Amino acid sequence: MRFDTKLIHAAQPPDPLTGAVNPPIYLSSTFAQSSPNRHKGYVYGRSANPTRTVLENALAVLEGGAVGLAFASGLGALTTLLEQFRSGSRIIAGNDLYGGTWRLFEHHRRQFGITIDYVDLARGANLEAALAKGPCALVYFETPTNPLMRLADIRDIALRAHRSGALTAVDNTFASPALQRPIELGADIVLHSATKYLGGHSDIIGGALVIREAELGERLRWLQNAVGAVPSPFDVFLVLRGLHTLGVRMRAHGESARAVADVLEKSPKVTAVHYPGLSSHPQHALARRQMEGFGGMVSAELSGGMPAARRFLRNLEIFTLAESLGGVESLIDHPASMTHASVPKAQREAGGVRDGLLRFSCGIEDPADLADAVKGALREL
Ligand SMILES: *Cc1c(COP(=O)(O)O)cnc(C)c1O
Repeated sequence: MRFDTKLIHAAQPPDPLTGAVNPPIYLSSTFAQSSPNRHKGYVYGRSANPTRTVLENALAVLEGGAVGLAFASGLGALTTLLEQFRSGSRIIAGNDLYGGTWRLFEHHRRQFGITIDYVDLARGANLEAALAKGPCALVYFETPTNPLMRLADIRDIALRAHRSGALTAVDNTFASPALQRPIELGADIVLHSATKYLGGHSDIIGGALVIREAELGERLRWLQNAVGAVPSPFDVFLVLRGLHTLGVRMRAHGESARAVADVLEKSPKVTAVHYPGLSSHPQHALARRQMEGFGGMVSAELSGGMPAARRFLRNLEIFTLAESLGGVESLIDHPASMTHASVPKAQREAGGVRDGLLRFSCGIEDPADLADAVKGALREL
């Protein structure tokens, strides 16, 4: 079965009881037992829920892992994953991470004896040097990163991590399994904020883990129940509904992003455009190798810093100024004052997130309308 067919049919048979082509939303916190501990596989809604099982099995197939697990948010998935690592463990993380991930690592986990070393994973030698410093439990990274769309070579990183006994986990939120499947490239764990492309309609908060090996997967399933950051059956249903159109949506997001990136790249008022699909992207060759499309996220830096960014945002039509990404509607974010405001200015700017940077989540409206909107706002600068 090819990917688009799997999205609709893999691990999603009609409901065995009624033939319903969509799984019922099982709003039940508990399940009857015929005698103590004799039941139909469901006991209590935190441990397992039949609607959630359908989503979890579908995600496992789509990402190519043994076990899929759904959570109440992306950070709920990450928190549960981190419970797996004892105090004294060391994590090597990419140095360009979602702000909430950085906050959880830096302002919380560190207090409990987890060491986190941040490394620019664009070069294999950097990872090699970090691994050589001592035992490492986990290499954790995003690709493409937020908001600068930098890539990391999943196959190369997984190979190096495994040689030194570390697990590899990839936050696959930006690409989604429609464009990139880290487990096929050697990663052990995939994490998602299902809030973004998997759900795809900006109407739920959700997260997921997919685990390559059954043994680690079952251990994390145990933690899913023990920690309890599980999603509601209704939210799970909406993610399943979103999944069905993931393939067509990702192709449309890609066309929109391409149209927007082309307009930005031609403008003399833009100093840099970050989109892996552009041949000017420094890792365009890697993008072609490990992705099946380049996704819907574009960032660009306006000359003129903060005042230019503010003027652009005032004049931009169609795009809604809002945090988050991955929905059918186009959103725009000003990282310096919104999503990345908690990062100290010097550190933020050293990392490349300057005041003139804008992040576009290109939706599935007509790409020509999105291109016109960006052109119009550039004209007013
Ligand atoms: C949004 C996001 C998260 C966090 O997910 P929530 O669902 O908001 O908890 C993690 N990683 C990336 C790349 C994200 O964009």
